[in-house]
This record gives sequence, C-alpha cells and structure tokens, in this order.
Amino acid sequence: MIYTLYYRNFLKYCNYTCEYCPFKKFKVSETKIEKEIKYLDMFYKYLKSQKDEFKIFIAPKGESLIFHHFKKFCIDLNKLDNIKEVVIQTNLTTDLKFLDSIDNKKLKLWITYHPTQVNLEKFINKIKILVSKNIDFSIGCVGVKENFNEIKELKLQLDNINLYLGKKIYLWINAYKDEKSYYSKDDIKFLNKIDMYFDINLNNYSNKNKPCATNYNAFMIDANGDIRRCYKDNKKLGNLYVNDLKNLSEIKNCNKNICTCFIGYNNIQNLNLDKVYKKSVLARIP
Ligand code: SF4
Ligand code: SF4
Repeated sequence: MIYTLYYRNFLKYCNYTCEYCPFKKFKVSETKIEKEIKYLDMFYKYLKSQKDEFKIFIAPKGESLIFHHFKKFCIDLNKLDNIKEVVIQTNLTTDLKFLDSIDNKKLKLWITYHPTQVNLEKFINKIKILVSKNIDFSIGCVGVKENFNEIKELKLQLDNINLYLGKKIYLWINAYKDEKSYYSKDDIKFLNKIDMYFDINLNNYSNKNKPCATNYNAFMIDANGDIRRCYKDNKKLGNLYVNDLKNLSEIKNCNKNICTCFIGYNNIQNLNLDKVYKKSVLARIP
C-alpha cells in the first residue's frame, strides 16, 4: 500500500505577517524548537521502520523551511527508500542551498506568493534558483481582488521564464470563497487566463455519502501522531505511534456537507484530478 500522510507540524511560526493568517502572531523559542525536533524524529523513525510506502505532504503551521532542523528533516526523509514523494508548503524565503542535498525527483515544493510580504523581483530570483536546481514546484496565490495586479505581473514574469528556459511553471489561484458572489464575470475570465484550472478550485464539492480516498490510503497526522481522516474531519481515529495504520484503513463515504480545499477534494476519486495534475496531484503540478 502507498499511504499519503498530510503532516501538520508542532511549531507555529511564520516570518511573514499576512493579515488573514493565524500563524503570524506566534513567537519561536528554543523550548518549542526542541519539542518540534522530538516530534519530527518520532515521525522519521516511524516512517523508517515501516514496510509500506508513503507520500508525505507537509502543511506547516507557518513557515518551516527557515529552520535548520526542518531542512535536515526534509533531507533525511528524502533519503528513505519507502518515501516516494515529499511535498512541502513554503513561502520560499529560505536559503535554497539545502536543496543540493536532496533527491530532486522526490521533493516538490508547494510555493505560495504573498504580494504584501515580498518584492516580486526577489521572489522571481528564488524561482530562477529552483529552476536551475531542477526542483519541481507549483506556485499559488490567493485570488483576492487586491492581488490582481501583482498576479498579472507574476504571470508575465513566469511566462518569460517558461519561454526562455523551456519550462512549464504552473501558477494556480486559490479562489476566495468566503464572500458569496465575490467575483464578477470579468474577474473569473481574468483568473481563468492566469490559471487554466481555476474553475476546479472555484467549485466547492458536495461529496456527502460518496467515496473519498481519505480514511483509506490518505490521513492527516498531527505532530504527536494523532490520526484524523482529513482537514475537515476532526474525529481522532487513532495514533500513528500506537495503532497500526492498516487496521484503521477503511473505505468510507464522506460525512461532510462540503469540501472546499484542494488538499481534501483531490482525494475524491471520481474527480480524477490525477489526470489534470499529471506530474503530481500532491504538489498541484499539471
Ligand atoms: S506566509 Fe503563509 S503561514 Fe506565513 S503569515 Fe502568510 S499565510 Fe501565514
Ligand atoms: S471529500 Fe473532503 S471533506 Fe469529505 S472526506 Fe474527503 S477530504 Fe474530507
């Protein structure tokens, strides 16, 4: 069996201060770092001891790659034979030298661009470094109207890189769905031009009483090992360090009214998103 584990780390901290984000307000301390290192070590040792194969999606509570210990964790994880893919969300502020120690076919980055926090030129320079290191990645931005100009500019710059370096860097837009009828027809037309798969994210999915791969071969894992079905289902199913994953694995219908988030709905099998995100569904790369 290949399991997909969505890992949520312990340490809450980000070097950015995006207005809408709960992680901007946390402070870091040596004690918290030590605790996180212990949790990461537990997870690493667990994965190393298993016969099953794994794809790991790291959804940090803030920005993790700015920390040496987290880079080391990614490097170590990539060396395990039973780890097939590692995807990590990042705002890309980190020094990218650590990528030289990583198997660039396994590690993929889910990058988010935050126009209020970073200068576009600086961001593009980082992207060029990734291209030179042959790392696979996708870039995303929240599709709020105040970002439209920056999104347009970013798309132009990425198209230039694609043209000159023969790349296909994918820019996705996360639809802003908190306000009903937020987008005009022209807004949607504009965002569709930026991201040809924007409509997939604009949609919310009603999958209640229908199958979903979560609970079968995909689970959310908290830093202490607690296992939940998906980002939306808070019921604890067990603990990675106590229970055997195969005993918890069961095909079960979804019991939620709506699924809004890519890291959830990509597990709805009849959406066949692996046919769209052919390079990596987990990293959202077509
Ligand atoms: S970069 Fe991400 S984690 Fe950091 S403050 Fe912004 S939204 Fe939050
Ligand atoms: S469809 Fe979404 S909400 Fe329902 S079980 Fe799957 S991931 Fe969870």
